[in-house]
Amino acid sequence: MSTNVTAIKTTSFASKDKIKIDPLSILVVDDSTTERRFLSVILGRFGHNILEVSSGTEALDLIIKNDINIDLILMDVNMPEIDGYQTANQVRNLQTNNGIEWQPIIFLSGRNTPSDIAMGIESGGDDFIIKPVNSITLQAKIHAMSRISNMRKRLMDVQHQLEKQAHFDELTGISNRRHFLQLLDKEISRSHRQAIPLSLSFFDIDKFKQVNDTYGHRVGDEVLKRVAHVVSCDLRREDIFGRLGGEEFCIFLPGQSLEKAKKIVERYRFAIEAVSHESAIGKFNVTASFGISELTKQDSVNSLLEKADRLLYRAKKNGRNRVEI
Ligand code: GH3
Ligand code: MG
Ligand code: MG
Repeated sequence: MSTNVTAIKTTSFASKDKIKIDPLSILVVDDSTTERRFLSVILGRFGHNILEVSSGTEALDLIIKNDINIDLILMDVNMPEIDGYQTANQVRNLQTNNGIEWQPIIFLSGRNTPSDIAMGIESGGDDFIIKPVNSITLQAKIHAMSRISNMRKRLMDVQHQLEKQAHFDELTGISNRRHFLQLLDKEISRSHRQAIPLSLSFFDIDKFKQVNDTYGHRVGDEVLKRVAHVVSCDLRREDIFGRLGGEEFCIFLPGQSLEKAKKIVERYRFAIEAVSHESAIGKFNVTASFGISELTKQDSVNSLLEKADRLLYRAKKNGRNRVEI
């Protein structure tokens, strides 16, 4: 148990306006309920959002889940089980191993020797405040750390942007070829492992060259976007949709046998056909031809795609705007 219940000195709140920073989500790690409450009250008055945990283990659980935004961690040193130093050390390892971006850690402790402070920094802390803590000092230190957390946010935004560019097709916004094939590969492994069916539908817009030739490439692009949009809107939650290139698209339907997949895909075919597209010389409709293959024990991504592609070719030969299984 902590002996520092009264250790946090609050300063008159008239001074709270002196340092204004954007509200942060702050995780308070302290085994003392009173200390946590006290910190929460002060930080709450500065407008921050506070999350409290009473042990290093709980803090680590929260961080590994990574589903709540944490901008900054305030960490007690003396705690039973694992202390603040060990916790900080494990937080840093966790972040490195799981690609979670750095969250600044400030230690708050009654321990005050130079080696206590050095150990705090060595173990992964970014700052060390000796109790009793003055609330203005605390807010100033949080301000300094908010620069790191803002940098972290910008870095995460850029990462998110890059990921989006790497995974999604620029024109239609759906999965690009590489991403789609990665997802399919994973799903095939899962289906093999759990012995559940999986169907794959390959489709291609009919006479699309004519669309470009008649209405222009820009209108052609709009058609691709609308087709992708219409299918996306109708897509079942489990199904994954991607643009493999040009006017070729692919959908995989986890858990669906051939017959069931055919019914679902007929719906997509109909949705595409029903859309009326605009152009300078009038409205028009497009159709698409589909091939569907079902996963067998021997199949890989390539063999499954090849089978669907052959069936798509058959759908073209048999008159287009149809589904072959
Ligand atoms: P089929 O019914 O046999 O599929 O005939 P098709 O005309 O659709 O097939 P073909 O492979 O001859 O032509 C596909 C056309 O798609 C040619 C190409 O210029 C066009 N295309 C490919 N990617 C894009 C794109 O991103 N935008 C536009 N506007 N056209 C594209
Ligand atoms: Mg303690
Ligand atoms: Mg085509």
